[in-house]
Amino acid sequence: MKIKNFEQLLHHQIADLMSAETQLIEALPEMATAATSKDLKKAFNDHLKETKNQLKRLEQIQQELKNSDKTTCKAMKGLIAEGSEALKDVEPGHVLDAALIGAAQRVEHYEIAAYGTAKCHAQMCGLTKIVALLEETLQEEGNADKLLTKIATSHVNQEAIDVQMAATSTKK
Ligand code: ZN
Ligand code: FE
Ligand code: FE
Ligand code: FE
Repeated sequence: MKIKNFEQLLHHQIADLMSAETQLIEALPEMATAATSKDLKKAFNDHLKETKNQLKRLEQIQQELKNSDKTTCKAMKGLIAEGSEALKDVEPGHVLDAALIGAAQRVEHYEIAAYGTAKCHAQMCGLTKIVALLEETLQEEGNADKLLTKIATSHVNQEAIDVQMAATSTKK
């Protein structure tokens, strides 16, 4: 069935986000296991808990909207596939941590864009309660992104460089 109006467009976006969060709930444990840095591991595990709650919020929104749309978020599929590629191609350690942060931030930025748009559309439709629920998640995604930046710039990136320096000096 074709989408004909703005509210149906919002319904589609909520279904897409549900798919995105569901895929992430499956992917995050693997990323947490693969991470070497304790704070990165914790960030992934904490965001997994948050993500499960975000999915609950979306279910609540669907009930509120009497929305039963289902779809697959192809973007999240691709972003997670890139993350898995890193797991396969990068040796475990600080360099992999840096790669995992890059993959995770791509995910957070996608979510920030998608929740931002959905929130804006809900606002236009006058759906105040739904706006509030989307806003809560949007804040969490923003915080997750900022925390990843902090982990990268406070030590992981430097440690990844140190790995490279150590490798270069043994070759000499
Ligand atoms: Zn879609
Ligand atoms: Fe999320
Ligand atoms: Fe999507
Ligand atoms: Fe997220």
